[in-house]
Amino acid sequence: MFQSLSDRLSGILDKLTRRGALTESDVGEAMREVRRALLEADVALDVVRDFIDKVKAKAIGQEVLRSITPGQMVIKIVNDELVAMLGSEGSTIDLHATPPVAIMMVGLQGSGKTTTTAKIAKRLTDRDKKKVLMASLDVRRPAAQEQLRVLGEQTSVDTLPIVAGQTPQQIAKRAVDAARLGGYDVVLLDTAGRIHIDEELMRESVEVRDIARPHETLLVADSLTGQDAVNVAKAFDERIGITGIVLTRADGDARGGAALSMRAVTGKPIKLLGVGEKWDALEDFHPARVASRILG
Ligand code: GDP
Repeated sequence: MFQSLSDRLSGILDKLTRRGALTESDVGEAMREVRRALLEADVALDVVRDFIDKVKAKAIGQEVLRSITPGQMVIKIVNDELVAMLGSEGSTIDLHATPPVAIMMVGLQGSGKTTTTAKIAKRLTDRDKKKVLMASLDVRRPAAQEQLRVLGEQTSVDTLPIVAGQTPQQIAKRAVDAARLGGYDVVLLDTAGRIHIDEELMRESVEVRDIARPHETLLVADSLTGQDAVNVAKAFDERIGITGIVLTRADGDARGGAALSMRAVTGKPIKLLGVGEKWDALEDFHPARVASRILG
């Protein structure tokens, strides 16, 4: 992830450090190049503008330009602002609630929602030693419930038995009841997706949310769709309220525009990255580590 941006930025910043003394116009020129690089990485325009303004305001201070290593100081400022843009503190799935903790997975069809549900379930089971139940609430896509059942078998995670003819709302209720009765720590609800956001999808999600009262509502979005992923996150947040984002297909995304804009545009943290099709291809999202990966 971020390969192209990382290459571009290291080129621009290397040039600055090699110059020794820096003038205001050197910094201004470098920032114009950084701006271009961020836009080419498909970062949202407002986010880029805000980022450049902040870096410039700090970097054009006299202490920076008069220092012995002005280039290094500019790089540090760029790094700090990147971390701030990505959400500083970082964030992971929050299970601090009375069990069974419900986690609702939402997103468009094909975003990787079902795969991510199984990846999270497996991680919580193996790493965090939680007793996890998964349930598919997707009654529209043929075989969606069966897909989750098979994934449950492959990952050795329990799935809610399929009952034909139930509505998503009924399945949500049954899942939460089964999790409570069965002494589960976590119940993961994989909701239906659509090709596009539509009113019916949102209404159904709101109703499921009100039944399951999830502690976490995670939006799964495809990193490769760039700013569309950011818009999808905004729309879901406005309608049902999300607590975090999982960006999938980060393994194939050389640009990284969605990852870079998501937090600043939606105010919601990226909690996890999907980095492949295997069960363990799931990474925590640490803003500081991501920034240092970008700056090389
Ligand atoms: P859903 O319709 O949102 O439930 O999507 P699925 O979970 O069925 O995933 C669609 C396809 O994307 C599957 O082939 C997954 O293996 C693949 N996929 C999901 N997450 C990732 C990821 O992080 N990286 C890659 N490379 N493929 C992924």
